[in-house]
Amino acid sequence: MPFSYHTHSGQFCKHATGTLEEVVQQAIEVGYTHVGLSEHMPRKEPCDLYPEEEELHMTPADLDQQFTDYVSEAKRLQRLYSSRIHILVGMETEYIRPSCVQEILRLQEVHSLDYVVGSVHHVEGMAFDFDEEWFQRCEARYSSLHAMCNVYYSDQFALLTQIQPHVVGHFDRIQVYQSDYKPDRAVWEAIQKNIKYCIDYGALFEINTHYMASTGTGQPSPNTDILKCIVCSGGRLTLSDDCHAPAGVAANYESVYDIIRDHGLDDHIYCLEFDNTTKSLTQKPVHNFLQHPFWQKAGKSKCSV
Ligand SMILES: [Zn+2]
Ligand SMILES: [Zn+2]
Repeated sequence: MPFSYHTHSGQFCKHATGTLEEVVQQAIEVGYTHVGLSEHMPRKEPCDLYPEEEELHMTPADLDQQFTDYVSEAKRLQRLYSSRIHILVGMETEYIRPSCVQEILRLQEVHSLDYVVGSVHHVEGMAFDFDEEWFQRCEARYSSLHAMCNVYYSDQFALLTQIQPHVVGHFDRIQVYQSDYKPDRAVWEAIQKNIKYCIDYGALFEINTHYMASTGTGQPSPNTDILKCIVCSGGRLTLSDDCHAPAGVAANYESVYDIIRDHGLDDHIYCLEFDNTTKSLTQKPVHNFLQHPFWQKAGKSKCSV
């Protein structure tokens, strides 16, 4: 404890920096006990390439090879650092179109991945989360943000029901650029429906700290309204920094500490481990979360608890 189940590195993701080994070394340095490696799944269509991949003249076949190389390096690091940190080797999903589901299932099986972070970054084939400009371009296609959110949560439901990801990635990513957005009744019902489904199959919802500083909202993803709803409905939480560089490991964890304390979320936090005896992934409750020495190192004194 603490930990992150959502990480990227510049070695295998062109909009990140640093090597995967540097990310693992930084995770050990900051005092993580667990880290989940979750590189983006390869996209299969040329139209899905990101700008920096196009600049490098990459093809979907290159992305596929890059992902294969990632898994092999991640498994090497898992063995190499096994006495110092519990590493899980996984992948972050896409849901660009329904056919992504088959590809996720194929990758999971072919690469014997330990776990999956279930994320959606597109609405109707268009990436909305690259930056604010991309988001606005996407939003312009809809009659309202409510309409766009409805498509997002509906696609998320399709992903959840077919994949049942171990960790739900940035649950409300669609709302991140609109901190003052208040879902209308239909969107809120869709949110509640997805939350209930995840709780029923036993997902962990990550508290993703990546956007807290960059969007200026001070809110993690999901935001505190949704986090409270998850906890009140009996859901389980975990922590993710969603780093895209070694320096992003544990970024904004000091701020999320305050949110966890102020909203009483600490009794609902779990870590994910591969249990070698049962040969299965298990969720473990984290006791005395706020008292862990990690927080003193991060500048949070015990007396502020
Ligand atoms: Zn990324
Ligand atoms: Zn993501």
